[in-house]
Amino acid sequence: MPQTWTVRSILQWIEGYLARHNDKNPRLSAQWLVADVLGCERLDLYLDMDRPLQPDELSRLHDYTVRRAKGEPLQYIVGATTFRKISVRVAKGVLIPRPETEVLVSAALEEVTPKRALDLCTGSGCIACSLAYEVPDCHVVATDISDKAIELAKTNVEALKLNDRVEVYQGDLGEAVPKDYFGTFDLVISNPPYVPTSVLGTLDHEVSDFEPRLALDGGTDGLDLFRRIVPFAYKALNENGVFACELFETALESARRIAQNAGFPFTRMVKDLAGHPRILIARKTKKDLDDLPAQASDSENTFQTNNATAAHTAVKDASEADV
Ligand code: GLN
Repeated sequence: MPQTWTVRSILQWIEGYLARHNDKNPRLSAQWLVADVLGCERLDLYLDMDRPLQPDELSRLHDYTVRRAKGEPLQYIVGATTFRKISVRVAKGVLIPRPETEVLVSAALEEVTPKRALDLCTGSGCIACSLAYEVPDCHVVATDISDKAIELAKTNVEALKLNDRVEVYQGDLGEAVPKDYFGTFDLVISNPPYVPTSVLGTLDHEVSDFEPRLALDGGTDGLDLFRRIVPFAYKALNENGVFACELFETALESARRIAQNAGFPFTRMVKDLAGHPRILIARKTKKDLDDLPAQASDSENTFQTNNATAAHTAVKDASEADV
């Protein structure tokens, strides 16, 4: 053991320790932990590798390293993660934002630039805050049933100074959404709990041991919450509104049928970065052909209709008749 620990020697030591404790990415973990304790970016570590560490920095690193060796996700240890263009706080008891959910937001924003959006099961508030941050005049309503999620979402809204455009309500799905908001939203978006109960036991222990089951368990087929969200989304949206939902990769076809039966004839599926069907986009009315996103020509992502052509024609005729 060296007398004085430097950035270089502590990085090496933590990497070795975590490698012996089955961390799949021990170097990256070591960089995250040391950068957090030193209050710098990961790449900045390499600017001053001989910097000596202070006793309090070493003791925090010791605590962090032991926690990481037990499998605790890095995001919980450092208390933050990046999500799209923002940094959000994360805390135990609330799901850590995932890259799939960044794709959910992209897919929704390709469909609509919302002025009013509703985020159900907001968790950390990452979706709601991103929408408000990225769409400057967008007003967002966010709900969650969990005390911890509500507290964290409010903290993130405050920290990002989005208080004037993000409202957070505690309740089961849409229960706490003011009734006079019904029919006003351009976008209803959700990353609900969607892991089929039988799959929960097969998740990586870093997920199953540390992340809240309440935010993951979607019931037998992963669609328990989705089934309740769909009719609510229908009520909450205006006529041209878009419903965007993240789902379990094997559930998209069933989800599409549920949405179609609930009055959303136009649906589109979007894959996540790993190529799994992950997101369902559903609309009551077809998007103007002029506005279709570029990838709509790709067969995977084309609107699927369910006897909807007639309805679409009727809607088009009606709108043309108005002008
Ligand atoms: N994508 C998460 C996971 O597989 C699940 C998130 C959710 O249920 N909403 O761990």
